[in-house]
Amino acid sequence: MTYGFDTLQVHAGARPDPATGARQTPIYQTTAYVFRDADHAAALFNLQEVGYIYSRLTNPTVAVLAERVATLEGGQGAVCCSSGHAAQIMALFPLMGPGCNVVASSRLYGGTITQFSQTIKRFGWSAKFVDFDDLDAVAAAIDDNTRAVFCESIANPGGYITDLDAIAGVADKAGLPLIVDNTSATPYLCRPIEHGATLVVHSATKYLTGNGTVTGGVIVDSGKFDWTASGKFPSLSEPEPAYHGLKFHETFGPLSFTFHSIAIGLRDLGMTMNPQAAHYTLMGIETLSLRMERHVVNAIKVAEWLETHPAVAEVTYAGLKSSRYADRVPRICPKGAGGLFTFRLKAGYDACVKLVNALDLFSHVANLGDTRSLVIHSASTTHRQLTPEQQTAAGAGPDVVRVSIGIEDADDLIADLDQALKQAAG
Ligand SMILES: *Cc1c(COP(=O)(O)O)cnc(C)c1O
Repeated sequence: MTYGFDTLQVHAGARPDPATGARQTPIYQTTAYVFRDADHAAALFNLQEVGYIYSRLTNPTVAVLAERVATLEGGQGAVCCSSGHAAQIMALFPLMGPGCNVVASSRLYGGTITQFSQTIKRFGWSAKFVDFDDLDAVAAAIDDNTRAVFCESIANPGGYITDLDAIAGVADKAGLPLIVDNTSATPYLCRPIEHGATLVVHSATKYLTGNGTVTGGVIVDSGKFDWTASGKFPSLSEPEPAYHGLKFHETFGPLSFTFHSIAIGLRDLGMTMNPQAAHYTLMGIETLSLRMERHVVNAIKVAEWLETHPAVAEVTYAGLKSSRYADRVPRICPKGAGGLFTFRLKAGYDACVKLVNALDLFSHVANLGDTRSLVIHSASTTHRQLTPEQQTAAGAGPDVVRVSIGIEDADDLIADLDQALKQAAG
């Protein structure tokens, strides 16, 4: 029996609680789990038996969320983490080593650009940023030390849609895994594994939870990558000294990445999601498709209205017919281009700041993917640490305002933008 998305978002991974019959997934607020006996404990610690030991590794509430997201993404397994940024480090961790690099799209969430261009250097890792519309440049950037190719399905913040099939082709030819950040699209709008992604990462903080209540992340493994073939991924293919020489890929096959991420990644990096956060995210996911549909309908209405406004120089939303990426929507995200886009004001930086101050219904926050409409001037906030060249390359130049369109009445959002644009012009 295969269920549709709307059914799976409510049911996948969950069942009535075996101990109490509780219909909703309980919040298992516990640190540790009692072993049946010493042999059981030994088997768990040897990874010979799967079960709960300690909540830094696994927790029943968190496990339901992992299975639900894995199912919705069409993956084999998933690991939940404490944030989207934790998920990115956890995704790279088994693949990289000192001297290794990741080839990444230049169009990424500002925080990811900072994480990849600055912080990962402390691990001896590096990133090369490339325009992912230039497939030759992506291929040319890959060298013997490259261990992954990284992009976003719908890139935050510039309304850019990555041609995932084409990029997966380049990664595949080089024998490398493709990691896709699917935060802005969610599995309702885009399923990167169907386009060749090896791993999918999420900031669950955004649309998955959907109402701005938690910080969380998820990594989904397609289970399709051969970690042994190239010899480039020894953490997964070679004997692991911390587990008596166990070889993860040989032992766990399509679940090797997931098991490694729990047994080594969560155990030693400790970027664990707590059961309370998993609960909120599970609540959110139950209505994911309903919310995403409304986000998309509203985003189209607001973007179309802004496009005709005399103060607006450009609206970068792939859901608009005028977008240069419009032709990728039916193939990459057939249910819509999301709820996030940017627009440029002819009057530049100061007008953007005035607009953000004058908006009433839109909240000025560094977040996205909330039921509430949100706005931010990226150049003075999230993308502040970047050089002007990096800002413009990331679609966050000084005259750019980013909006995350909520699920309110579109007419109310338009009225709010209308009055704020008048004030910004005054
Ligand atoms: C927010 C975000 C992240 C980081 O997630 P956190 O949960 O804030 O750590 C990564 N990628 C994208 C596309 C995001 O929007």
